[in-house]
Formats: sequence, C-alpha cells, structure tokens
Amino acid sequence: MHTPFSTLSHLECSRTGARHDADTVAGLSDAGAPLLARYDLDRARELMTRAEVAGRPPDLWRYHEVLPVRDPARVVTLGEGMTPLLPLPRAGARLGLPRLLMKDEGLVPTGAFKARGAAVGVSRAAELGVRAIAMPTNGNAGAAWACYAARAGLGALIAMPVDAPEITRRECVVSGAELYLVDGLIGDAGRLVADAVARRNERGAGYQDTSTLKEPYRVEGKKTMGYEIVEQLGGRAPDVILYPTGGGVGIIAIHKALQELVELGRLAGPMPRLVAVQAEGCAPIVDAFAAGLRSSEPPADPRTVAFGITVPKALGDFLVLDAVHDTGGTAVAVSDAELLAAEHALARDEGAWICPEGAACVAAAGRLRESGWLNGSESVVVLNTGSGLLYPDTVAAAPPVLAADGHIP
Ligand SMILES: *Cc1c(COP(=O)(O)O)cnc(C)c1O
Repeated sequence: MHTPFSTLSHLECSRTGARHDADTVAGLSDAGAPLLARYDLDRARELMTRAEVAGRPPDLWRYHEVLPVRDPARVVTLGEGMTPLLPLPRAGARLGLPRLLMKDEGLVPTGAFKARGAAVGVSRAAELGVRAIAMPTNGNAGAAWACYAARAGLGALIAMPVDAPEITRRECVVSGAELYLVDGLIGDAGRLVADAVARRNERGAGYQDTSTLKEPYRVEGKKTMGYEIVEQLGGRAPDVILYPTGGGVGIIAIHKALQELVELGRLAGPMPRLVAVQAEGCAPIVDAFAAGLRSSEPPADPRTVAFGITVPKALGDFLVLDAVHDTGGTAVAVSDAELLAAEHALARDEGAWICPEGAACVAAAGRLRESGWLNGSESVVVLNTGSGLLYPDTVAAAPPVLAADGHIP
C-alpha cells in the first residue's frame, strides 16, 4: 500500500468540532473560529516509530506524517527546526531552579521561531495553489513569511505597525515583499490587509490572508517545538513549559503537540503545566486567567518592549486559556524592567543573548519560584522565541573610543 508523506485527514472547527475539507484553501471555520488540522494518528503511529524518526535529518520535517504537506516535493525549507534544548546551570542556580532548560529558537532562519509556522504554512499554501500570501504582523512573522514566500516563488504583502522592530522591515524588503507600515497596532494592520486581499481577489489575484490563526497550518509548524522538546528529553515531557504569549499560536501549538504525542503513544505520564507569559503593558490573557474568564478583553494602552507579544486581542484567546487550564498551568505578567534585566543577566550567566519575549519567560520563572508555584525540584523549559540580535536597541553599548596610537589600561 502507498505510504503517505502526510496523514492529514481533515480540518476541525476549534469551537464546534465541525469537520471541514483539508484540501482546499481554508480560512476560519463556518462558525468563525480557527480551524485545527487533524491526522490519521493510527497510521502515523505505525509510520513514525521512534527509531524511524531518530534516523531522519535534524529539521522539523522529520515529523512529516503529522504535518499537512502531502507531496514531499512541495516542502519549502531553509533548514528550520531541531533547535538546541540548553541546560541553564548558572541562571538556574541564581533563580533556584536547578533543572532549568531553554529551547533556543534564536537559531532558526530569520532569527525567530516564526520560521516554523512560515515554512509549513507557505509550503501548504503553495501546494494548494495560492499565488501570494498577505498578513499583518508585529514584525517577526512578516519577515519569516516574506522569506519563505520568496523561497517558494510566491508573492507577499505585509503590513506592520511603524513601531515594529526595524530589522524586520529590512527582512521583508530584502526578500522582495510588498511592505506597508501602519500608524497603529497589529489589529489595524489586519483590517487594512483583509480589505486589500478582498479587492485583489475580486480580480483573481490568488491571495490568501495568512493572519494569525486565520489559516490552519502556521500552528502545525509551531507545534514541532513540542515534538522536539519531547524527543530531546528522550520521550519525556518536562514538568513545566513557559511560553511568551502574543497571538498564542505557539502555546496552542505546543498543547496540540502534547495531545497528539499522547495519542501516538509517545508520551506517558502527566502533561507539562503550560504557563502563558505576557508583559505587564499588554497582558489580556493574564487578566482573563486571573478573573477566571475564557476570553480576553483588550487593554486600553498596550505597550511593551517585547514587541512580539503586543497583541491586545488574540483570535485564539480561548484556546490559550484552555491550554493553561487543561494542564494545570498558570498565566504570569512581568514588567519591561524585569524582562530587560533577565535578558542582560542570561547573557552574562550563559552567553546567550535572547529576545525580550524569551527573557520575559526567564523573569516569569524566577517570579513563580519566589511565589512558591515552582518549588525548585521541577524540570522547567523556557521558550526563547528569537535572537537578541533582532533587538539591538535593548542593550546600550558605549565603550571608550581610543586613538589609533592610544593606550589600553
Ligand atoms: C510572535 C512572537 C511571539 C508570540 O508568539 P505567539 O505564538 O503568536 O503567541 C513571541 N516571541 C517572539 C519573538 C515573536 O516574534
């Protein structure tokens, strides 16, 4: 019998469970909610044995049976995935968490974990006949989708707030995307993009709106972080995973990965407790969790240096809150001062210059240890979602300048 590259079976509405076809270009479900990809996991269990997966190349496509691309020839890759899971012994000792680990996504193409969602999302879009992608972004996602669109030969229309990290503009421009800066927030950019896509598609332009959770496959790319963590820990999950939560795709995706791994018989024992980390300047998920609600309200004046998590209203907020509740996790906000201090301290302790969003997780781990939510015996994984190199302005550098014939003391 023919061995499928993907065991994708259908798409499922995340609110109602209604089935939708997986082999046409899909947006939101009929109920207006995100669609989640479902697989024939019985078949996948036979095909992706632990030994089989272990022998494959070290990128995220090693989990191709549970990814949506059907034809291996349609895989668009720049070598993303299988990032290091680093022990943080000095930082862990300082924070009272001797079993602290960091999944370091600063090493993927484009320097942020958005490359995972882009690789899988762009591959599948191209396979389904999309000719151009269009999206609003806080910077990193647009940069990644622009690069992967170029790699796939697709067009890219990107709109980002003027305040988004400058480097991400350049990433879009250098890879040939059509880029607009918007004097507003990501939600404003989203409205402008949706309108342009509708008008262009009336003329048959073949655009897909690939906004966060408005297409089903970005989640699939990001879920490979969960598969990798379990594989790297020898088939076990850590006790706790902290994730910097903006649109929430990553935490929803890691939760989905863990559920699939249980169904695949690859993960025994309790699920790790998932912690949604936000910045105090924009913490709608943390506020909703504290109030016992299952949906969030946008804060009045959202702002934080951790720009990737400045998302006032996430389409998938209820899925993030489900992930936190279902796993016995929690939601924590830290201040910009705390996360910047954590960014500097981690570089001094461990030589790793991480992004402010990742640093928020390190700061939150310290907070949870102080409050006693963590007792210090747990294995704790913090997600560093990107490289500090994308955020040069978060570090001041003013070394002495010497004359060419000067003197170093
Ligand atoms: C996008 C982004 C996040 C938030 O990711 P979500 O999965 O959308 O919650 C965190 N960190 C960085 C660096 C990002 O670019």
